[in-house]
Amino acid sequence: MLDINNIREQFPILSTQVYGRPLIYLDNAATTQKPRCVVEAEREQYYTANANVHRGVHYLSQQATDLLEQARQRVSRFINAPSEQQIIFTRGTTEAVNLVAASYGSMLSEGDEVIISEMEHHSNIVPWQLLHERQGVKLRVIPFNDRGELDLQAYARLFTERTRLVSIAHVSNVLGTVNPIRDMISLAHRYGVPVMVDAAQSVPHFRVDVQDLDCDFLAFSGHKIYAPTGIGVLYGRRSLLEQMPPYQGGGEMISTVSFDKTTFEGIPYKFEAGTPNYVAAHALAVALDFVDGIGFDAIYTYEQQLTAYATEQLSRITGLRIFGQSEQKDAVVSFLVGDIHHLDMGTLLDRLGIAVRTGHHCAQPVMTHYGVEGMVRASFSFYNNEAEVDALAEGIQRVAKMF
Ligand code: PMP
Repeated sequence: MLDINNIREQFPILSTQVYGRPLIYLDNAATTQKPRCVVEAEREQYYTANANVHRGVHYLSQQATDLLEQARQRVSRFINAPSEQQIIFTRGTTEAVNLVAASYGSMLSEGDEVIISEMEHHSNIVPWQLLHERQGVKLRVIPFNDRGELDLQAYARLFTERTRLVSIAHVSNVLGTVNPIRDMISLAHRYGVPVMVDAAQSVPHFRVDVQDLDCDFLAFSGHKIYAPTGIGVLYGRRSLLEQMPPYQGGGEMISTVSFDKTTFEGIPYKFEAGTPNYVAAHALAVALDFVDGIGFDAIYTYEQQLTAYATEQLSRITGLRIFGQSEQKDAVVSFLVGDIHHLDMGTLLDRLGIAVRTGHHCAQPVMTHYGVEGMVRASFSFYNNEAEVDALAEGIQRVAKMF
């Protein structure tokens, strides 16, 4: 059992008001709020241990470097990577996908194929389209059914002798679908094809173990798991990372530089050009301690119950249609009510103090699938509670009456 009131007290923003009403924050899939320990870790580092990392012999630089490398170990343990050398710090999921598309992608040739799915976030579509434009690599797309489940038979049929990578979301940010990623990886491996997992929406909600999944790349964003913005993670299989060329050039990633020849550092530094966001990396480690302190068993059970409760309450509302009804679903409820525009719904809920997201959610192909321009999305964290879900349901009904 979680002590939600105690948890909520650790997030100062949750006790603020908007338009004179208590804030009800249901936009957690976009970004999560930050507990005091995370904010204080950042402040503390700037006050006591701030210096640029790796280059310095002086005390502060060594302290900052230690914190960064400890954070790498912490992340490595969190996702059960075989070694912290396989953890690359990025700005977020988007940069991690772009890194793989640019670096692994540079080893592909015209006519090679990458499989993605119809439910991807734009950050797992556009980098591959750019690769298509640069190098003629083709995209193959796994469709989903109206419940929001991937068509696994279609997936199996997409493999050809030119398939070079599969890149798919673990959990859809719109439909909440938890894809059967382990089976999808094992199928790809039967064809000798590596798999990248976009874990932006899974890592905050349940335990993700890269060795258990046997994935080849995995990406997530710190800001969706209670850490600061501007830090994210790319995990990669060692043999792949070692073969791949650098992503960006600059300081930190080189071994020697001359005008005749430059040699590069080994992994992970080869992929980390420039000054990293070392303060956010340390705060990410603190956020992971915080989440582990609560415990994923409790988090998962609670969030599943809350999502089921929200689904039940919202389903009772006349004219409300929920998008995404897969068997395995996580912490997201996307909906529309009658022909009320998603923006009108979002704007009026906001006036009641309820923060939800409206629009295409950076997944326009999902909107196209259902023939809608946008949806309203409520997304949950363990700090949300049933009273907030009740307020959402009441708010939706109030708005519906106005139309
Ligand atoms: N993938 C998914 C499934 C997401 O939900 C998001 C964020 N909405 C991203 C990728 C991109 O994450 P970021 O903007 O932090 O890079």
